[in-house]
Amino acid sequence: MSERIVETRSGKLRVLQDRQTVSTFGRDRVAEAIAAGRDSPPKASGRPSPKPDWIRAKMPAGEVFFDLRKRVAELGLHTVCESASCPNIGECWNRRSLTIMILGGTCTRSCQFCDVPTGRPLPPDDDEPRRVAQILAELNLRHTVITCVDRDDLGDGGAAHWAATIRAVKAAAPDLVLEVLTGDFKGDTGAVDVVLAAGPDVFAHNLETVPRLSRQVRVQASYARSYAILRHAKSRGAIVKTGLMLGLGEEIDEIRQVMRETREIGVDILTLGQYLRPSLGHLEVARFATPEEFATLRIEALAMGFPHVESGPMVRSSYHADGQRDIVRELAKRRAAAD
Ligand code: SF4
Repeated sequence: MSERIVETRSGKLRVLQDRQTVSTFGRDRVAEAIAAGRDSPPKASGRPSPKPDWIRAKMPAGEVFFDLRKRVAELGLHTVCESASCPNIGECWNRRSLTIMILGGTCTRSCQFCDVPTGRPLPPDDDEPRRVAQILAELNLRHTVITCVDRDDLGDGGAAHWAATIRAVKAAAPDLVLEVLTGDFKGDTGAVDVVLAAGPDVFAHNLETVPRLSRQVRVQASYARSYAILRHAKSRGAIVKTGLMLGLGEEIDEIRQVMRETREIGVDILTLGQYLRPSLGHLEVARFATPEEFATLRIEALAMGFPHVESGPMVRSSYHADGQRDIVRELAKRRAAAD
């Protein structure tokens, strides 16, 4: 079995075998890898920003956490929780809530906020949809999010693999409310249609930041293209969700403008969270928005007509997504009644 070592910008090494991430190493193991002649970690630059006391992450611990991690590894799956070094993993995984990341563990893009390794990925694993469905059925979840790495190397951006995954999950766990958090497919609305035709319950795509900062934050993406993807999904009748990070240098009024623009095209669910720098190799945190600012933005977004808003310092697009099951079902009922 061939083996490759890839490195995140936060200096973790991930060993990828044919189809699976075997383990993640911390900085001590990076030093060993350097000694063995592998790639070196990035040079540290800048200073870490001191975190206010409302930024809290629970240490990953406990039997449930380790059992889940073991099962994910046994099935050769990736999760964005691990790959993006999500600070909520201790809390989420102890609730058996995880976000599986399909199409491999290596992304073709290099967004400056994200810790997922960038590189040349392997071809899609045709058996991955089955294994994703297997773990989700085993976990007996009520709601889950699946996301992916960006696959600009594939003609369809991975849309066919997405569709196979959605169909496999729906067959194995018919009661599960399934949210798909996709990339922008380089603006290919036909690829979005392939995904939607497989019947996800929620179509999510994150704008991540305001138009002025989009190119700097999401190097190979653009606000306009992502906005067009959301608009297209909505025009096809999907329940649509997007998310933004605060703390990348935006003004609050720019966030408000994005909220208005996304509501105008009918986005249903909005998440607002604090950007946290995975390492010194990533964009600096420009500022920490206060819990009160998040609460105010939530009230404003609800007043604009968003049916559901999650807003808080530790919110990620998949954070507490299981709590959105009822609103998704309600929105689906309203849509059916309007048809
Ligand atoms: S917030 Fe999302 S990505 Fe982070 S640990 Fe929870 S489920 Fe995983």
